[in-house]
Amino acid sequence: MIRVFLGIGTNLGDRERNLQEACAALSQRLEILKESSIYQTAPWGYLDQPAFLNQVIEAQTALSSLNLLDFLKQTEKQLGRQANFRYGPRLIDLDILFYGNRIIQTPRLQVPHPRLMERAFVLIPLAEIAPEFVHPQNKQTVAQLLAALPDLGGVQKCG
Ligand code: AMP
Repeated sequence: MIRVFLGIGTNLGDRERNLQEACAALSQRLEILKESSIYQTAPWGYLDQPAFLNQVIEAQTALSSLNLLDFLKQTEKQLGRQANFRYGPRLIDLDILFYGNRIIQTPRLQVPHPRLMERAFVLIPLAEIAPEFVHPQNKQTVAQLLAALPDLGGVQKCG
């Protein structure tokens, strides 16, 4: 079994329900160990769209990294994600943030997620559930990565 961290984002439809359905679908193939709080994030990239809800989960799984990616893509489809433009509105977006301590650099899959270090909406929920986890490439903890972010703007805890 390998310990993985996944990022979940949604900004269309019933966003809380999308997150719940994503976790329910993921738990068919993963054992979910921890769920962060839900955070609301102002849209970025393409600004004319609803705010995102973001969450990070820790899980363990026997799936290989590519099988996990296939499962996430299949789950996105099953939950009704339309093919869409990059950074545009989406029903559900599932990302592999960490796959144990593995460093994976293939055309289809890069792990740790290459944009994780610059994204407050990933690092804030990640630091809530795994502040001591060490990024296998730059060897900093998640808490250190978060402290190094110049801008935490736009991310608010819900509820
Ligand atoms: P997305 O922007 O979420 O639609 O992702 C587009 C593509 O990114 C996917 O089809 C994957 O092949 C690729 N990808 C590369 N690295 C990752 C990762 N760590 N997690 C999820 N998708 C990834």
